[in-house]
Amino acid sequence: MPRLSTDFTISVLGGDRRSLEVAKVFLNMGADVRVIGLDLGTNARGLRACRTAREAMAGARVVVAPIQGIADDGRVFTGLNIPPLVLTEEDLSVLPRGAYIFAGLAGRRVLETAGRLALEVVELRNRDDFAIYNSIPSAEGAIQMAMERLPITIHGCCAFVLGFGRTGITVARLLVAMGADTTVVARNAADRARATEMRCRAIDFPRLPALISEADVIFNTIPARVLDAAVLGRARRDLVVIDLASDPGGTDFAFAAEIGILAVLAPGLPGKVAPVTAARIIADLILRTLEEKGEIPPG
Ligand code: NAP
Repeated sequence: MPRLSTDFTISVLGGDRRSLEVAKVFLNMGADVRVIGLDLGTNARGLRACRTAREAMAGARVVVAPIQGIADDGRVFTGLNIPPLVLTEEDLSVLPRGAYIFAGLAGRRVLETAGRLALEVVELRNRDDFAIYNSIPSAEGAIQMAMERLPITIHGCCAFVLGFGRTGITVARLLVAMGADTTVVARNAADRARATEMRCRAIDFPRLPALISEADVIFNTIPARVLDAAVLGRARRDLVVIDLASDPGGTDFAFAAEIGILAVLAPGLPGKVAPVTAARIIADLILRTLEEKGEIPPG
């Protein structure tokens, strides 16, 4: 890791344990790290806790906002029992021109203001590399959730993975490695070819209703209603569904509950099951971006 000088100021705004871990990475590199809107617990040594966003951001070269993102009105995600934090144009104007704002997503107000103030915004959740790295703790967490709910091992079970994007591929790969009989359901022929290459059975959606009764567990990664009543109605009642897709997921949860199928929406798995790994993923991407931009020396 490169050493940063103490006049290299990083401002960490809001977030959860991941933001705290990111703050500690920069602190260990020697930077001046200011924080606000974050539950510091007993881990505050060396971090400068600020009372206002302006105090935290004055002269900062880098701002790190939560992976949950900044809302369109400038509201920054903060934990429970933490006073709300809303960024205004006046707050952002204390940053020097060319300063970086890293956020899951930055929201309309920050994007517009950043344009006017010549600030660089990097939205991590729009990056492919972030999604692929993040798929590792997501897949592990999803399979952990399934293991806690299934009366059988993953090895030898019949697992379906719906969707074969960044998350679906990693879930399928892990299931195959654990010895599950894995079926990938994908609409794209090239995805089905890749799934076959990975030793999965690959099918398109029209075949799902006829085959779903084979499934012991289904991992859904598609943010569209793919497990509707017509499909779920043909599944066994001991099926377990772990739905990873963003809220509201792709499952008719009310219908699943009505017919006795255990279906759970599993949001935010990286932060829940592996907060330190999730934080390292964020910190590494920020460091790599700053290196590429010549802001910090290569590590
Ligand atoms: P992705 O790379 O875009 O993959 C999405 C997959 O869904 C693709 O295979 C896509 O197929 C398929 N799909 C989308 N709409 C579809 C439809 N209407 N019918 C059939 N297939 C459809 O996304 P990702 O990064 O894997 O993320 C997937 C979801 O998981 C997102 O909602 C994301 O927010 C969520 N996520 C959750 C967690 C968690 O902790 N729970 C972690 C990471 C991601 P095509 O390529 O053919 O469009």
